Amino acid sequence: MQKIEGEPISIEKGEWKVPKRPIVLYITGDGIGPEVTTQAIRVVDKAVEKVYGSSRSISWVKVLAGEEAEKESGSRFPKETKEALLRYKVVLKGPLQTPVGEGFRSINVEIRMLLDLYANIRPVKYMEGLKSPLTNPEKVDLVIFRENTDDLYRGIEWEYNSKEAFKLRQFLKNELGIELEEDTGIGIKPISKSKTERITRIALKFAIQNKRRVVTIMHKGNIMKYTEGAFREWAYEVARREFGNDVVFEEDLGGATPPQNKVLVNDRIADNMFQQIITRPESYDVILAPNLNGDYISDAAGALIGDIGVLGGANVGDWAGMFEAVHGTAPKYAGKNVANPTGVIRGAQLMLRFMGWIEAENLIDKAIIESVKQKRVTQDLARYMNVTPLGTKEYADTLIEIMDSL
Ligand code: NAP
Repeated sequence: MQKIEGEPISIEKGEWKVPKRPIVLYITGDGIGPEVTTQAIRVVDKAVEKVYGSSRSISWVKVLAGEEAEKESGSRFPKETKEALLRYKVVLKGPLQTPVGEGFRSINVEIRMLLDLYANIRPVKYMEGLKSPLTNPEKVDLVIFRENTDDLYRGIEWEYNSKEAFKLRQFLKNELGIELEEDTGIGIKPISKSKTERITRIALKFAIQNKRRVVTIMHKGNIMKYTEGAFREWAYEVARREFGNDVVFEEDLGGATPPQNKVLVNDRIADNMFQQIITRPESYDVILAPNLNGDYISDAAGALIGDIGVLGGANVGDWAGMFEAVHGTAPKYAGKNVANPTGVIRGAQLMLRFMGWIEAENLIDKAIIESVKQKRVTQDLARYMNVTPLGTKEYADTLIEIMDSL
């Protein structure tokens, strides 16, 4: 690893303490990853320099994962990278390839588990110029908090003809009087109080600090009472117990308008919510969801703005954070300088937000919105705007030029 300058970011119980020259790790990723990540770093550095001059700067430290790591060390997720992640705790990550079916485990999942990154955060906001399927897409401004470690994603399931499924069916029949068909596969949906409480805390804290209007708990508690219904109950309990001064509850308001300085907390049943984010997107703001609902609603929300390729996300826990694009490695575009780096830049913006470097984040936001408005974009957007596309690097140059002019 290179000689490291700067100081580590300290994160304790979700509180970030950021020095003037913080060390941030980066993983360039596979496929288009190296191109988009390199350009994202240029854009972030420019924004930080423009806003804070020489008083703040990021000390970027490259660590290896994926194909590049395998070539250099024989491992896709080397020990040195794991040690650096545990030590420095904050990483900007390019997309990493995961084969479908057999093969190596997802390094994305391994990083999440290593750093206990339990909150997956995905902002979805429309930008003028994108090709949305909605008539009023400018009303879409959502931030989704998806619980990342519980629920059906624990992967506890057995094939219908396994001895485990047989044993479980026997247990259900003999001990609990529940008879299932002999050809039933079984999966288990665990949702715990402690994991619900911690995702609720991080979502409410974010909503309050960022002056959002509403936090909606999304659940299917009418059917799954003791898992999704419990998620709803426990989330409300945390909101009342720990955030009582900053929130109000829809059920207490009786239809009255919530006070300006408070965040409204309400809940919606998942199926209703899917239709309402399309028909009335302005009613939704921060969405708090268990793992599976969160997975579905994240992509559905992305579709509302017409292009999931320009979205970034964060995976955050109590003592670490990983920031990335929503899209994958797009292998057919690798090495061609045509991919759109906006997804990784959006991920980096979230990192700046958690660091408290909000002014730099806002500057990048303005530049991206302006570039799309001016139709100075990469081929993914240029092809439906009927304009000549910019290359990955030239697009980053454009953002830098726009930031300079602001
Ligand atoms: P993908 O890499 O996101 O690519 C799907 C399509 O999206 C591309 O063919 C391209 O569409 C478009 N696209 C995605 N990113 C783009 C960008 N930056 N600029 C321009 N166009 C972009 O999805 P995938 O093909 O399903 O997955 C490929 C690999 O990525 C898999 O190994 C998967 O496991 C991995 N992956 C990793 C992550 C992660 O690291 N977090 C996330 C998702 C997937 P057009 O063909 O229409 O131009």
